[in-house]
Amino acid sequence: MLFINKRFFLLNKMIGLFLSLSIVTGSNLEKNLSSTIFQFLNTKFKTVKNGESPNRFIWLHGDEMTAKMALNSHIRQFQGIAFFIQSESREIPFKSTMVDPNRIFSRKGSYHALRKFQPKWRSDSLETALNQIEIEREKLLKKIEPPKNGLLISVHNNFRGYNVNYEIKNSQKTAIKPDQNPRDFILCTDEGDFNKLKVGPYNVVLQNKEPPVDDGSLSWAMLRKNIRYINVETRLGYLTKQKKILNFIETKLNVVNE
Ligand SMILES: [Zn+2]
Repeated sequence: MLFINKRFFLLNKMIGLFLSLSIVTGSNLEKNLSSTIFQFLNTKFKTVKNGESPNRFIWLHGDEMTAKMALNSHIRQFQGIAFFIQSESREIPFKSTMVDPNRIFSRKGSYHALRKFQPKWRSDSLETALNQIEIEREKLLKKIEPPKNGLLISVHNNFRGYNVNYEIKNSQKTAIKPDQNPRDFILCTDEGDFNKLKVGPYNVVLQNKEPPVDDGSLSWAMLRKNIRYINVETRLGYLTKQKKILNFIETKLNVVNE
């Protein structure tokens, strides 16, 4: 009986293995993509890898679904590694509170992000939480940082008022197009990239100096590390627009990498 059970178990296992292998090879043959999962705080990230390009992409805010769809489509067309947060909300759970994943890239930013939802945290437990975030952040950065000749592109959507005009005070150069909606824009941290992108049809701003107040967003962390970073920001629901901007960036910038 035991023997039969064991054989049955093995057979089941083999069928399972065969099925999962055919799913993986099927999608690989079709799209040449591979996928893994890793953990950041209590939240998972899914990576989708296409080819060997040094470019990296990230979707960080779970409620910005247009950006997710745009990146999902982009990584099937262009090479690089895309990181997708596995969350449906903007903030992610952390200890007894929530935290904005795009506000934890500096200690000061993390402090304010934590205090936003837990204003009465005791300073010793707040310190412990900040230390924990710091360790996790460094691990996350190791995963998402592009190699030297690559760049990191993040995709975001806005819901209401936020637009390019809010970024002008922190920008060193701007190229605002009168026929473009101010809520759709490109933010970059490298002047060479800015010069190539500004000649196109889209709003572009350059932020290559740290602001007086670091809000803990990924862009300032990348600037400090001298990594070329681009944020593609569009109105929620404007999928075609966001895809076109991503396409435009690839065609303008990747000529240089070759
Ligand atoms: Zn966002």
